[in-house]
Amino acid sequence: MNPERINKTESSNPPLNIEKMKQDFESFKNAGISIETYYDLQQKFLDEKLKPYQETYDESEEAQIVIETNDEKLLTNEEIGDFVDSKFQGDILRKGLVTTIEIRFGEVNYQAPEENSFGIEKGEYYLPKAKFLEYFNQLSPEQQKELTANIYHAESFASWNRITEQENEMVGVALLESGHVVPTPVALFNLEFDDETKAISEGKLEEVGLGYLSETRESERQKMYALGTIAHELAHNIFQHLIYGKPHQKEWEEIVDRLGSITKYAEEYKNDKLTHYDENFAEAIRLFTTTREFLEKSGHSEMARFIEKYFPEIKS
Ligand SMILES: [Zn+2]
Repeated sequence: MNPERINKTESSNPPLNIEKMKQDFESFKNAGISIETYYDLQQKFLDEKLKPYQETYDESEEAQIVIETNDEKLLTNEEIGDFVDSKFQGDILRKGLVTTIEIRFGEVNYQAPEENSFGIEKGEYYLPKAKFLEYFNQLSPEQQKELTANIYHAESFASWNRITEQENEMVGVALLESGHVVPTPVALFNLEFDDETKAISEGKLEEVGLGYLSETRESERQKMYALGTIAHELAHNIFQHLIYGKPHQKEWEEIVDRLGSITKYAEEYKNDKLTHYDENFAEAIRLFTTTREFLEKSGHSEMARFIEKYFPEIKS
């Protein structure tokens, strides 16, 4: 046998070129929502077309589900539609100023931290799955882990309404001081490579703080997690426009302070008070709409009472 030939066969996978990976990743840097939406938002602000809540609500339409990419392996488009319609009834999503629910399962959302061993500039990257895989498959297990720890499932942009003068460089708007509001989309991304998905498939729920799925049938857990993620993001819009700044905001904060975080995920935000209340509400809505029985037995059932009292349009 010719050793040289063997070598050639083995090296048919070219060695990983980190510099090329960095450049490639950086070509998919974005602002989270489509760049058109982003400029449209900036322009509306500059033209002073953004308005106070009531006027904005009056002029808004029902939230639309926009399927950008979905291979329907995890959830069918119909399942997504049925879930949203049955759990968020009446005009609750319109009241939450949700413009669209963008399904982008074909994109991997990597949020590069300041320090990363790939030299990728800090920021948000939206990589087509095939492009992501091109590099991911060549990485060492340690490098893969580093990458997957910073993959995000979804985003809500409702908190843009809380952007202050000091923080406005991202969208160029400072809504908090203006008293005006901006309707925003929520977006769902690829869920195949993150640590939670891996843990669900390996049955290690507690390790990643997904104990609330323990009573969900094994075959349904991944699906419930994905649907719960949609609910979580929609809840951020509801928190922003229907709790934040309202008299019952205090009531919610008091419940969270007394009971503690509903999930491990919400607890990760404990050092940022407002975000902590916001994330706890988002997780409470996740459990309320997907694992209600668990919520009732969890010691956090009072959160369910709060939801029933103020948001009867949300169903479990
Ligand atoms: Zn959240």
